[in-house]
Amino acid sequence: MTTERIPLAGVIGSPIAHSKSPQLHAHWLRTYGLSGYYIPMDIVSDDLEDVLATLPRMGFVGVNITIPHKQRALDLADLVTDRATLIGAANTLIFRKDGKIHADNTDGYGFVENLRQGAPDWNPKAGLAVVLGAGGAARAVVASLLDVGVPEVQITNRTRVRAEKLAEDFGKRVTVVDWVKAGNILEEASTVVNTTSLGMMGKPEMRVPLDGLQKHAFVTDLVYNPLETRLLRTAREMGCVTVDGLGMLLHQAVPAFERWFGQRPEVDNATRAAVLR
Ligand code: NAP
Repeated sequence: MTTERIPLAGVIGSPIAHSKSPQLHAHWLRTYGLSGYYIPMDIVSDDLEDVLATLPRMGFVGVNITIPHKQRALDLADLVTDRATLIGAANTLIFRKDGKIHADNTDGYGFVENLRQGAPDWNPKAGLAVVLGAGGAARAVVASLLDVGVPEVQITNRTRVRAEKLAEDFGKRVTVVDWVKAGNILEEASTVVNTTSLGMMGKPEMRVPLDGLQKHAFVTDLVYNPLETRLLRTAREMGCVTVDGLGMLLHQAVPAFERWFGQRPEVDNATRAAVLR
């Protein structure tokens, strides 16, 4: 008699206790009546390679990867999607039946789907996108903005050289503006994205002057704790359409869940509620 193995997935990072992904995947497994488990795993860098070699033998079909392993996971994979290569980091691994590890990065996909769902009138081609920050998340955001047809991206970051490296990697449509001038470029922006950790619970508040924001701009923040950051509150009060960052976390998980468990999940109010609980 043969029995089907229960598919296992999880998230690898360090620390990992704060991750909302276990709640999210457990909610979808319950909602669709699927058998499977999703487990948080606190793994130090020195153990990552051994762990990735062992998990498939234990019945794991894949894992999400988070800080600090996103770059290293890319190096350890056998096959890498173009978008993960461009971003320079992996957030999703699929353990294939032939033993190969397939790496993808779905952060940019999650970012765009969140904007599309939260702001159906958002038109990426409408004009300039201003991206605050140039860290790992900014790379995924810039890649996806260019992919959906934003004509021009201006990045501004406290550490200018990091923004310059990003612009260099993404070509002519991306330019860099000094952090001290961040407020000035908002006047021209059709899309504004905060990818810094500023405004997050326990981090400093964002001090970029926001009075240049235009009413027609769509404004989103990757920070989702709190759900409405100062940037989003101010933008909303000025008449802009705003979208919080929680949906990005939910949408980036959709392709992975589908690959691992065979069902494309919906991101709806119940999904949000399950994660906020
Ligand atoms: P990261 O690589 O560490 O980058 C952090 C960014 O924040 C850098 O641009 C950094 O500027 C800037 N920053 C930090 N402290 C600052 C300060 N005091 N003043 C000005 N700038 C400051 O982190 P990440 O992975 O890109 O993540 C960034 C944020 O996005 C985090 O809050 C994370 O939780 C959030 N995020 C959300 C989602 C989602 O699904 N919603 C997904 C990914 C990330 P420097 O380069 O000058 O240090």
